[in-house]
Amino acid sequence: MTTETRTGLTADEAAALVDRLRTTYRTGRTKPLAWRKEQLTRLRALLTEHGDDLADALHTDLHKPRAEAYLSEIDFTVREIDHTLEHLEEWLRPQPAAITGPGFPDGSAARTKFDPLGVALVISAWNYPVNLLLVPVAGALASGNAVVIKPAEHTEATSALLARLLPAYLDNEATAVVEGGPAETTALLAQHFDHIFYTGGGAVGRFVMKAAAEHLTPVTLELGGKCPVFVDRDVDLTTVAARLVGTKFTNAGQTCVAPDYVLTDPATARALENALTVAIEDRYGAGPAPSDAYGRIINERHFDRLTALLGSGRTVTGGQHDRAGKYIAPTVLADVSPDEPVMREEIFGPILPILTVSGLDEAIGFINDRDKPLALYAFTENDTTRRRLADETSSGGLNFGLPIRHLAVPELPFGGVGASGMGNYHGRYSIETFSHRKAVLDVPLS
Ligand code: NAD
Repeated sequence: MTTETRTGLTADEAAALVDRLRTTYRTGRTKPLAWRKEQLTRLRALLTEHGDDLADALHTDLHKPRAEAYLSEIDFTVREIDHTLEHLEEWLRPQPAAITGPGFPDGSAARTKFDPLGVALVISAWNYPVNLLLVPVAGALASGNAVVIKPAEHTEATSALLARLLPAYLDNEATAVVEGGPAETTALLAQHFDHIFYTGGGAVGRFVMKAAAEHLTPVTLELGGKCPVFVDRDVDLTTVAARLVGTKFTNAGQTCVAPDYVLTDPATARALENALTVAIEDRYGAGPAPSDAYGRIINERHFDRLTALLGSGRTVTGGQHDRAGKYIAPTVLADVSPDEPVMREEIFGPILPILTVSGLDEAIGFINDRDKPLALYAFTENDTTRRRLADETSSGGLNFGLPIRHLAVPELPFGGVGASGMGNYHGRYSIETFSHRKAVLDVPLS
């Protein structure tokens, strides 16, 4: 086998594949900085030389608008690679550690050094199937690992394209692409990896962690959940609505860090309903269905799940849907109560419920009564409110003022806490995830 793209993989074949990559890893081929940089440069070339092909595939799979495909998938991944190429040498430099206490002869020195882990497995979700696959793959390669790459199966066109392109660019002795769904992923998960990086829902996340436990393999779980938005009184609701609409309805709401629901006081809720209606019309026109600037739902199963949530509360705007086109209009629901279906699961679609609370205390209580979110958003001009949200709640990320965009700051770690996941990545944090920080003590013999 030279070019590795596999589908219909059995457990025996998966074992042979991992063995082959481990043999390569043990030769030391993946460790030099030059190899790592070369792989990153080739991955970058794949993205720049085939950007339009990837955008076409994303359009086929998700009706993803071209500008969105470049912004959140292709260019996003290129920027991540550029940032890593620029800083990798510095990040990998051993860090001296101070020696204190008795018993160390003169000349003793201590340091930490990053070691690659070995053979990594990266499993992607379908909602950003380029970004969520290739950003962790870049981290695994930059850290000097061999890697098995498992694209998301629901985005078929993107998966097939990546499975064709990746072996043409990357070192086939040290990387392999496996296409497929639960059967192939299960065959892979039975193998001994040195790290498993999984993005997707919590149910499969539990399965991944159980499989990893068999081999004591560390995992990064990039999961989801409901990301709350607190809107304070007396903020500029035109700006708030424009930013909520611009982020919530991107990719038709199928974003792990999409604002999931709004918490605000009753008076602000009324005014926000109007502002959101105007902002949706400004962005998508009166009927976004034919608009190429608006995405579609990934499949019928998710379409049916989402339309069942439309009955909650009172529809302020939207609600129109078409199963054949997998289209659901950008929808705002008001007067939603916490026990309605739309509040019982992560929405992961273009539906934004507004719930009312008496103020900040109740909002903090509401957030803390539920699973720790992947992101918490707040629109406020009040420093005490900012401080209280920072100190009194726990979430993967906390973002004041511009939802989702904390992901685009390369020096910030991206990941969840509690039910929204464990571990993180992006930039230097990807190196920490895909490496072992080894303690080295060096004591002179004479
Ligand atoms: P998905 O269905 O694409 O599943 C993710 C991966 O798990 C796929 O590669 C799939 O092959 C594999 N898989 C699915 N079922 C399996 C099974 N039974 N056994 C073994 N492997 C299996 O993605 P999804 O779960 O629908 O993704 C949506 C969820 O992912 C949402 O909860 C969302 O919030 C979360 N998400 C999180 C992030 C993040 O970065 N934290 C990003 C995107 C999505």
